[in-house]
Amino acid sequence: MKMKKMTFSMMMMMVVLLSSSFAEVSLATVPRDLSNFQNVWQCPSDVYIGRPRTIEQLQTLVKQAKHVRANGLGHSWNTQHFCPASAQSAAAAPEAEANTIFTSNGGGGKDSVNVQLRTISPKQIIVDEENLTVLVDAGVKTRDLLNYLSEFGDGSGYTLPAFSWFIDQTIGGAVATGTHGSSLEYGSFSSEKQLLGVEMVLANGTLVNLTPDTHPQLMRAARVSAGRLGVITKVKLRLVPEMRVRREMNDRLQSVMFNAINEGQRLWNEEGKLSPALNETQFLWWIQQGRVFHVQFERLEATRQDRSKAERAPMVIPQVPNPGPLILQSQGFSTFLDPAIRSVVSTSVAEARDSFITMTEPLYEMHRVNMYDQYEISVPFSTMGNCFNGLRDLLRRNIAISQSFFSPALVRFVSQEDGLLSQTEDGPRLYINIEDYLFYVQGRIINTGFKQVMAYFRSDERCAGSRLHWGKAGWPDAGCWDGAEEYPNTWCDFGCAAMALDPKNKFADSGAVFSWQGSNLESCCSAEHKYQHGPGCQCQAGGRRSDCPAAPGYTNR
Ligand SMILES: Cc1cc2nc3c(=O)[nH]c(=O)nc-3n(C[C@H](O)[C@H](O)[C@H](O)COP(=O)(O)OP(=O)(O)OC[C@H]3O[C@@H](n4cnc5c(N)ncnc54)[C@H](O)[C@@H]3O)c2cc1C
Repeated sequence: MKMKKMTFSMMMMMVVLLSSSFAEVSLATVPRDLSNFQNVWQCPSDVYIGRPRTIEQLQTLVKQAKHVRANGLGHSWNTQHFCPASAQSAAAAPEAEANTIFTSNGGGGKDSVNVQLRTISPKQIIVDEENLTVLVDAGVKTRDLLNYLSEFGDGSGYTLPAFSWFIDQTIGGAVATGTHGSSLEYGSFSSEKQLLGVEMVLANGTLVNLTPDTHPQLMRAARVSAGRLGVITKVKLRLVPEMRVRREMNDRLQSVMFNAINEGQRLWNEEGKLSPALNETQFLWWIQQGRVFHVQFERLEATRQDRSKAERAPMVIPQVPNPGPLILQSQGFSTFLDPAIRSVVSTSVAEARDSFITMTEPLYEMHRVNMYDQYEISVPFSTMGNCFNGLRDLLRRNIAISQSFFSPALVRFVSQEDGLLSQTEDGPRLYINIEDYLFYVQGRIINTGFKQVMAYFRSDERCAGSRLHWGKAGWPDAGCWDGAEEYPNTWCDFGCAAMALDPKNKFADSGAVFSWQGSNLESCCSAEHKYQHGPGCQCQAGGRRSDCPAAPGYTNR
């Protein structure tokens, strides 16, 4: 078996030397580690940062703390899943006090810890060419993994079957949240076609290896866990040989997208088929202007393994000027953004690593400094056309709403997966990513048009079954999101897995999301960690507040 490994020990040395296992912080000077990459979505001030240097240190840290949350690089837009339960979060949500997730809350101090995966050193990427798999440490950045794979070995190179346009998260964070691109063939990073196993530190500090063969049900739970089951330390992913991919981009009217979505719904409902026109297709939808960038990909046969083509050409990275604070309205910003995005989606033939759209480093820097929140909603294929037609009506009725959008919406398509909390556990879905810049541009004042669109997605019956991305914004106030309603098929199965792996709720979230109050998990979970629905075993989240705000259910934006 041919294997090769790489270490990032040099890169990490400075971090390790500068950091101790614990660093205390106050809310006023929250560092990036306790907030997201734009220094918002901060954890409460009684949360500590754990910086383990080795897996053994991580195990000790997890074992000793009362509440723990794993962190990658803070590339998410919520505190619910990013921060551990803490004394302060409990105080801020008194309605949830009786909720089972707070039963082990010891009240602040070093009880609540965010553990950083990226301080563990050295980091490893181990390629198994015989079995076409890669075992990678959770703290490795997806960008580093893809670049390493693409140049692997004698230059023949490998890549991941499908990946997201954003690749600056850790691979552990990507898997934890079901991060995805647009693939009706391979699904998200967490799908059974891509994710073959995970290694995790459990609440008692032990390490466990989960695979579909050894732990079928726990592996289904671990596919998308949002940090609720333990700390992922390694993931095993499927590889495909690096290949040529043709990317085609066409400027179209938005009607092209609506027609494709409606036809996709019809084909799914009437013939049970996935529309080939939606596979590996992305629409960047300039809502303000009623137009789309229609981007499609075709995998070509040539791979580097058959020596039929040259090695990866050096990437030309387009520079992106900073728009500065003067472009304050929707049209101006989109005029600025159009060429920047066009440069990364234009028609070309290149290696998969470069052809599938990924954010360039200059674009990342632009994203980092221009404040915004990112939201993503998925809707089932069975209703996606109805949902989008209703949205178009809403935008037509109220033209001002379209001015709430600065950047294009990104519309993608993902196949069904067997992860219990994969958004596509019940069938393929359309995902729409939307971004709110206006909230920050106008001085942290609610962007009402944007919120109306979120309310539409989350409450209109044409979008029934809509779901939120585990790593993005839009999560309702504590006690106002009901897992048993959102994931009716699998919520309590996940509860059974959580009870088995984390019996004392050490990995509880800070937003009362993971709740099974009244579900009687102790008696209703089978030895295989499946919930046995029946008399006395009604799956419910419980603990729901009676005074929740109207859809979309959040008051922080
Ligand atoms: C600019 C931008 C663009 C994005 N584009 C996309 C996109 O195209 N597609 C998409 O699907 N998503 C996208 N995302 C979302 C992003 O992929 C996820 O939020 C991802 O989880 C962030 O990874 P992170 O390593 O920074 O994790 P963090 O933000 O640190 O953590 C996110 C969640 O994962 C959990 N977690 C992290 N690491 C571990 C671990 N080792 N073990 C257990 N739990 C863990 C945390 O507890 C938390 O709940 C984008 C994000 C940004 C900032």
